[in-house]
Amino acid sequence: MGPGPSGGKALRRCIYDLDWGEMQALCQDWGLPAYRTRQIYQGIYRHLAAGPEQIPSIPSALRQQLAHSLAFDPLTPKARARSSEGDTEKVLFQLQDGAKLETVLMRYRQRRTLCISSQVGCAMGCSFCATGQMGFVRHLSAGEIVAQVMAFARALKAQGERLTNIVFMGMGEPLHNYQASLKAVRILNDPQGFAFAARRITISTVGLVPGIDRLAGEGIQINLAVSLHAATDELRSRLVPINHKYPLAQLMDACRRYFQRTHRRLTFEWALIEGLNDGLDQAQALVELLAGLPSHVNLIPLNPTQGFAGAAASRQRARAFKETLQAHNVPCTLRLRRGVDIQAGCGQLATQVHEVSQQAGRRP
Ligand code: SAH
Ligand code: SF4
Repeated sequence: MGPGPSGGKALRRCIYDLDWGEMQALCQDWGLPAYRTRQIYQGIYRHLAAGPEQIPSIPSALRQQLAHSLAFDPLTPKARARSSEGDTEKVLFQLQDGAKLETVLMRYRQRRTLCISSQVGCAMGCSFCATGQMGFVRHLSAGEIVAQVMAFARALKAQGERLTNIVFMGMGEPLHNYQASLKAVRILNDPQGFAFAARRITISTVGLVPGIDRLAGEGIQINLAVSLHAATDELRSRLVPINHKYPLAQLMDACRRYFQRTHRRLTFEWALIEGLNDGLDQAQALVELLAGLPSHVNLIPLNPTQGFAGAAASRQRARAFKETLQAHNVPCTLRLRRGVDIQAGCGQLATQVHEVSQQAGRRP
């Protein structure tokens, strides 16, 4: 990687990359008394300090040392967009190496849900997803994932509000970037820091079986959403190529194992695409796939993306699909399309499409 927009400066480690233990080790290295760890950690995660100068409890020499050694602002906001209803807001952030990602805040009644990215781009290549269409750029570090949350937590605090939910449904496949995603969850959940309830965090996966098994053993009470979109292998492989590697039988076995170990109900995501997966045969096949597995199905009419010709299912067909599931006692919700006008809906995040196509000449 050449010297990007950071101007050739060495990229500094980001403070949000350090969990409590690593912060402790750093303070020890610096010969600081043990209570400094708590002061710094709480300054950042409880008082939401945007920089060391906003942690008044520590001496100024330490503030300078922190500022010198660690990046407090790994994300620079470059653009913002707000949906016409004003309930969805998307921010485009630039990372230290110049890569860009998008984060989306959704306001719905009392809920303030942040949709965060785990990678820049995505390697999974789902045909209907704008992030998939742009290809993989790079993994995010745990700190770059946490920093998205802190940026919005600070903005909301200034408005007298707070985040209520965090979903890994932005750019990227969190289980493909397993370590960083899980570390971010643990940092956000740490009772000594931000103390965000794991139950209010959802990891959404395209269905990476080893990752699901690994997650089942973490002993953490997060929610798992699996992006299914089709209930037969032939159709699913067309929409979600990773299905060739982990076909439905394997995926559903992993979901059952996950439930057996965690006793947590799974969510299944289904983007309704006209004439492709919105038929009652698919609804029926889905009922059979989920038999005996406590689950909830989220139906989302497809959001339009440039690289996919499919259209959203009609209201009528969406409703009929939902009614079929309900008739077989499969709990489901037909979601509203939100933020579509600012390309902030599910699967519409693709900041780099233009840049990637220029660099690699991949797409017109
Ligand atoms: N990679 C993860 C999480 C990010 S995608 C995953 O695939 O689950 C978040 C959700 O948006 C997934 O359920 C995904 O299938 C869905 N999605 C992608 N493109 C979409 C589109 N064009 N319309 C509606 N949902 C879409
Ligand atoms: Fe990646 Fe998820 Fe998009 Fe598939 S739907 S390409 S896994 S971000």
